[in-house]
Amino acid sequence: MIEKTSDQDVQLSTEVTNVLELTVILQVAVDVPLLTLFDYLPPLVSAPMEWIPGLRLLVPFGTRQRVGILMGIAAHSECAAERLKRVNAVLDAMPLLTALDLQLIAWAASYYQQPVGEALFTALPPHLRKKSPQPPFSKGENKKPPLEKGGLGGICETGEFALNADQDAAVNAISAALGTFQPFLLDGVTGSGKTEVYIQLISQVIAAGQQALVIVPEIGLTPQLQHRLTSRLSGVTVVLHSRLKASERARNWELAALGTATLVLGTRSAIFVPLPHLALIVVDEEHDQSLKQQDGFRYSARDVAVRRAQLVGCPVVLGSATPALETFHNAQRKRYGWLQLPRRAGVARPPKISLLDIRQQPLRAGLSMVLRERMETELAAGNQILLFLNRRGYAPVLMCHSCGWIGSCSHCDARLTLHLSPPKFWCHHCERTQPVPQHCPDCKSADLRLLGRGTERLEEELQPLFPETTIVRIDSDSTSRQGELKRLLGAVKRGEVQIVLGTQMLAKGHDFPGITLVGILDLDGMFYANDFRATERTAQLIVQVAGRAGRAERAGQVILQTRHPEHPLLQSLLRSGYHGFMTEALREREAAELPPFAHLALLRADATDELIPFEFLREAKRLAADIPAFAHMLILGPAASPLARRLGRYHAQLLVQCTNRAQLQRFLKQWRIALHKVKINHHLHWSIDVDPQEMF
Ligand code: ADP
Ligand code: ZN
Ligand code: ZN
Repeated sequence: MIEKTSDQDVQLSTEVTNVLELTVILQVAVDVPLLTLFDYLPPLVSAPMEWIPGLRLLVPFGTRQRVGILMGIAAHSECAAERLKRVNAVLDAMPLLTALDLQLIAWAASYYQQPVGEALFTALPPHLRKKSPQPPFSKGENKKPPLEKGGLGGICETGEFALNADQDAAVNAISAALGTFQPFLLDGVTGSGKTEVYIQLISQVIAAGQQALVIVPEIGLTPQLQHRLTSRLSGVTVVLHSRLKASERARNWELAALGTATLVLGTRSAIFVPLPHLALIVVDEEHDQSLKQQDGFRYSARDVAVRRAQLVGCPVVLGSATPALETFHNAQRKRYGWLQLPRRAGVARPPKISLLDIRQQPLRAGLSMVLRERMETELAAGNQILLFLNRRGYAPVLMCHSCGWIGSCSHCDARLTLHLSPPKFWCHHCERTQPVPQHCPDCKSADLRLLGRGTERLEEELQPLFPETTIVRIDSDSTSRQGELKRLLGAVKRGEVQIVLGTQMLAKGHDFPGITLVGILDLDGMFYANDFRATERTAQLIVQVAGRAGRAERAGQVILQTRHPEHPLLQSLLRSGYHGFMTEALREREAAELPPFAHLALLRADATDELIPFEFLREAKRLAADIPAFAHMLILGPAASPLARRLGRYHAQLLVQCTNRAQLQRFLKQWRIALHKVKINHHLHWSIDVDPQEMF
């Protein structure tokens, strides 16, 4: 049978890349949840060949064949020669992944405590994970210089304006770093011209015959960015995200890997795409949570981007109007170059944010009188309004007025949200629906009442208050049909709509020049959530939503309705802006020894039985005590996760906290090996999340 190469983590030996020998041991990564590589002998029929790491091989594994990736070669194996099996076939003429790509993935697998095989196969596009025909790779094609339209520079259509002094300084600093590793925070308010800075830098890269990689949280939500980049830049731009057709994704991946694509615009997983001439990485909206994968291989595309830039030796630009506290801290500590664009580019002026205390205030459709009056004024002046309510559906609670019964999911610790179009009684955690009850299931009363307000209800209640106006709702329900988001955004842009209401979809990257008033209806719940990042996320959301207003000549105003106007972080945000907020929030983090002042890992476990995860986690905690680095760890738990029951499974967790990242890494490595040896109930799942973004 197949044996493990070693119990330790895979260290890539990049020196041994082309040894010409027949009797070599091939060390192969296979897509299985085991920590090791597997040893094989070359196929019998094979003529002498270069065993270059990165080649895909077909190998016997258990009772079946699997695709494996050659990671390295060795002179001998630790397992007996007669037990070694032979590779069945070599699938590629040339490796798809270069030594550098393999090194990056091996680093990510090790850092995120993920089996290297699983990490590798996550990095490959789906068509290459299977025994597919060999892709049209050839060495020769690689050498062609990239296509260029528009003459010398990479810009084929110039903007109508010159860069302002701040933009100029940012471009100069980053372009001076081309060819060397240097991370930058591009800390620029919404509308300050960050995208213009990217475009200038990418054009330099393209003009030099090299490749740029731009990572964004979600492409579907920001069609504008894609359009702007492709229309302004020469060369070949390809996009990479999971919603592309398989054939298109495969083609774009190959254009990138061949060096033909000059710009790759992609979501999270594009951070691993091979780019032989990579010279610049940009991570836009670097604070966004969706840059962190939340299941399987739990990596942060932003942090992998920094590591990749370091391996490649190129600059990496992390751009945001609301940087993550970790990134801001790195900039303050001068680990990252800190480039600020504090002013809006062009004519747009910054919006003015004011708090509106709604305690004791009569509300209609959730709107205070002050807000309604301001809306009337803006509408009369022919302006547009944005209302932000971060709750989908019609009502978040259906309650029996007689006995207090509340409709909740039978599989999760969660309430069901009532949706009207289409009618659904819906769990937002497991996506299951139940029929809407006509009578209380407990006391049979027919007096069931809807509490609270989602965007559907807001839309319905708003229309009679503003009968003459056109209102659109933008949330994941109203835009689920292909092309619908684009259509609605277009209507808003052309001024065919007076009031836009919606969820955090509206906070992302859209530019609404006609909007002069933003109403933020209800964020109080978020400020008091039990996740330590909740305040940071709320502040980001407020600033991002506010940034949609007054992008053109007309200044914008933002009214934030709240029942907690005294909240200290809300106060610091209003008094001294996002920077003031970050400084204050970092002080709190430091006092509580939370990131970025400490490093976290979460060991999660779940099972259909409530007690099994706790048994496992107690055993895990006991095993931790045997590891030398344990003395430096603070381990909290086991505790039931917030929202402990999800989809019929019970979740619990252990939180590991350590002020030294290297020590935490050493500890996790040994702990993981010990955990893999624990005999577990077959219903149990467990996983380690390094630098967790969500605390459940
Ligand atoms: P961000 O990416 O920071 O939100 P953008 O790059 O989208 O900002 O720029 C916001 C708006 O300002 C865009 O319409 C852009 O065309 C315009 N703009 C950018 N730079 C300048 C400049 N130097 N002068 C005038 N307008 C600019
Ligand atoms: Zn009842
Ligand atoms: Zn559910």
